[in-house]
Amino acid sequence: MSRFNEHITQALAERHQQGLYRQRVCLERTAQHVNHQGKSLLNFSSNDYLGLAQDPQLLQAWQQGLQRFGAGSGASPLVTGFNQPHQQLEQQLAEWLGYDRALLFNSGFSANQAVLFTLLNKAHILLQDKLNHASLIEAGMLSPASMKRFKHNDAAHLQRLLCQQVDQTSLVVTEGVFSMDGDLAPLTDISNLTQAADAWLMVDDAHGCGVLGEKGRGSCDLAKIKADILVVTFGKAFGLQGAAVLCSEETAEYLVQFARHFIYSTAMPPAQAYALSQACELIQQGDWRREKLAHLSHEFEQALDSAIKFINTPSPIKPLLVGCSEKAMQLSHAINQRGCWVSAIRPPTVPANSARLRITLTASHSIEDVKYLATTINEVMYD
Ligand SMILES: *Cc1c(COP(=O)(O)O)cnc(C)c1O
Repeated sequence: MSRFNEHITQALAERHQQGLYRQRVCLERTAQHVNHQGKSLLNFSSNDYLGLAQDPQLLQAWQQGLQRFGAGSGASPLVTGFNQPHQQLEQQLAEWLGYDRALLFNSGFSANQAVLFTLLNKAHILLQDKLNHASLIEAGMLSPASMKRFKHNDAAHLQRLLCQQVDQTSLVVTEGVFSMDGDLAPLTDISNLTQAADAWLMVDDAHGCGVLGEKGRGSCDLAKIKADILVVTFGKAFGLQGAAVLCSEETAEYLVQFARHFIYSTAMPPAQAYALSQACELIQQGDWRREKLAHLSHEFEQALDSAIKFINTPSPIKPLLVGCSEKAMQLSHAINQRGCWVSAIRPPTVPANSARLRITLTASHSIEDVKYLATTINEVMYD
């Protein structure tokens, strides 16, 4: 057996032993259901918070875009892949979110990596919330800057770290809404500290943009702050795919010159950018979707058995902490048997001993859907 085969076999065996082996499941999706093995289940595991992924207007925009601009963009943005729909979308995003510029990327993962790799050198300090997304933590570990992680949402800890580095150039990075906990970063405090230390603040608002703030502008708008760099992703509330970095004119130019994820990657299809412009419109006009989410959140909390330890969140992400991975898998399976799709999230996606059910609500759910889920959880929790 070759050495690589040995290495792979061993790693897989370890995963199995730890009870952490993961598998994809091939599903067919409709607005609020997934079809699995001929059974239709209510889907409480999607990040399509506003229900836009199946919105007829959005689908129509993508079809129109295909007719007008063709399929692929054919090149990277600095060659011939930057077209009128991309430009229009960038301008629309910049105006809506209050920045000089927006720059499109193919994914949130690459946008985060691009910013950290391009901005940081070995003289810099990078301070990240401990629970930041894998794309941020990984980029931080691989970047030449020295990275420190502050305790989750702990502004006092961040302050101590900033005080140790007074003469250094520091970048503070946090998510707006944390993807596995659904809680919000204390952005007002973090922004004040960052400014006082003459550092920069970058906010990854993958789960806040579209959902929180005036006209869905996101976590920063809600906290009344402006980050130096804002990353928004289109795979969640936008119902599509891709991401944008919002920043100053000069920072955007810097990224265009030096960000390798931007320069050496084929631009998103122009039809996708066209559809994203429509998504952006739908989000801004989508107060009713955000109001519905708030209503569903309240109903869910009310319908859960009071013996269940559940702390409600201001976002559509509702974690139900279980602790043990096997127990989380077992609950997810039992809920699935009763007609709802709820994923168990296990380490290493979340810290050790904090396996959980990650329930997400979307504007496509009905009150009955959410009450049914809560009743199901009440039934299976203490079986
Ligand atoms: C989903 C997510 C990303 C990655 O975005 P993709 O567009 O899916 O690559 C980045 N950051 C956070 C916080 C996320 O939740």
